[in-house]
Amino acid sequence: MERINTLKCPRCAKTLQSGVYHTIEIYLCSGCKGMLIKQRNLLRMLQIFSKDLMQIIDPDYPIEPLSDIGKSLFCPSCNAEMENYGYMGTDFVKIDSCRNCKVLWLDAKELGVMGLLFARTEQRRRRSQERIEQFEHDLDKTSDATILSQAAEKCLLTGFIIGSATDTFGKSISSVKRFLT
Ligand SMILES: [Zn+2]
Ligand SMILES: [Zn+2]
Repeated sequence: MERINTLKCPRCAKTLQSGVYHTIEIYLCSGCKGMLIKQRNLLRMLQIFSKDLMQIIDPDYPIEPLSDIGKSLFCPSCNAEMENYGYMGTDFVKIDSCRNCKVLWLDAKELGVMGLLFARTEQRRRRSQERIEQFEHDLDKTSDATILSQAAEKCLLTGFIIGSATDTFGKSISSVKRFLT
């Protein structure tokens, strides 16, 4: 990633322009809008990008697996053949990466799908967090211990079948029975 002015787009061969997207350093193709990004910046990229994306499209926008272009890409920096792997283990997006340079090549549509997947994951995480908070809130409201113990007793009584325990518990069964009646 050092030879700034010599990097060429592995898709369309236009010169890549270095710059920052928000705070993240990227090399952007002015032609196809694909980008080269350091591997370690991917998560931060998706965090920021997905927020921008959600300003424009709905998180429930349908995702279709991207047709695999099938052409091997060569790293713009070291010219080695890049590896192609499924993002998050799915076939929705295939990312090209260079092991030598620790960089990723993302086509614009690949970034779009990843941003959408990321936004949905975040949304689910927020929803389950909200459910936990709601649950804790509800607990606060019913913090009257008698309600909870009454509910527990009701469960015990309806679920308790006399004589179903093994012999070793024979003695305790009769005492539980006394306790419950
Ligand atoms: Zn390009
Ligand atoms: Zn490389």
